Amino acid sequence: MPALPKSLLQSLQRLTGFNSAAFERAHQEGNTVTSIRVNSKKWKHYNPGKKPDDFLPVDKKVSWSSNGYYLTHRPAFIFDPLLHAGAYYVQDASSFFIEQIINQATDLSQSLRALDVCAAPGGKSTLLQSVLSSQSIIVANEVIAMRAGILSENITRWGSPNVIVTQNDPKHFQSLPGYFDIVLVDAPCSGSGMFRKDPDVIKEWFPQQVALCSQRQQRILADIMPALKQNGLLIYSTCSYSPEENEAIADWLLDTFQLEPISISLQEDWGIAITESPRHHAPGYRFYPHLLQGEGLYIACFRKKNS
Ligand code: SAM
Repeated sequence: MPALPKSLLQSLQRLTGFNSAAFERAHQEGNTVTSIRVNSKKWKHYNPGKKPDDFLPVDKKVSWSSNGYYLTHRPAFIFDPLLHAGAYYVQDASSFFIEQIINQATDLSQSLRALDVCAAPGGKSTLLQSVLSSQSIIVANEVIAMRAGILSENITRWGSPNVIVTQNDPKHFQSLPGYFDIVLVDAPCSGSGMFRKDPDVIKEWFPQQVALCSQRQQRILADIMPALKQNGLLIYSTCSYSPEENEAIADWLLDTFQLEPISISLQEDWGIAITESPRHHAPGYRFYPHLLQGEGLYIACFRKKNS
């Protein structure tokens, strides 16, 4: 494992939950975490009366998820027909937290319209499908054509009829003003949250990339904001640790749009760190590999105010 970039470590020093020695140790130890999320409808169909433990090396449940499990090791997934049938999805456990946000910040008895703006390969879109009611509509969008193909395959495999895959630039959704109850922006980012899982990313990381990503994140958010309904929910996430792509974006959102930040209740033993954006004190949820079993992630959510 190459050394972690000094400028990144420096930028994290003051953040709640960050501990340089423990963070670096978690990376040097290089423990890999494998987690899956079960598609309960398909699981019941293919394996009536059977539990994930009957087929997979389950260690324990992911505590912030109803269908997420840690595995003791990474099996040869490629040979498992259940994976190809869409009975489960291999995904980092930190991402499963979206379920908590949807449960706590929306009325799931309603039919909702959700847009996943940066959706490929489809992990979070399949999660939305599992959590939202079957009367809801989910638009899973990916701007890059090749990645939209992979997204489409994964959505088809998951098997819900209420999902539309699109391949559009975020600004195209301005033709649907105030249409969506939920907009998820899982933004392209500098990727430091993946350092432990994929150490090659460390060599490709450079500080200027953080600034470029931050500008692109603002552009995507500004382009998509008109499509969010008043009172609708914006979920913003990145797999970067850099405050410029996270807390600074939360402050920029609150400076620029009529939004209010939303707090999500956590259990202390989940190990999720809560930060506040410097100016507006917007809560952000940080997943650090030295505090929990999962890779790096930042998530914040906001409600669009009635104007
Ligand atoms: N949400 C996905 C999931 O859970 O599987 C992962 C999304 S990934 C972090 C970010 C996605 O944003 C990538 O698929 C990338 O192709 C897409 N992207 C890159 N540039 C973009 C842009 N300018 N506008 C919108 N999406 C972009």
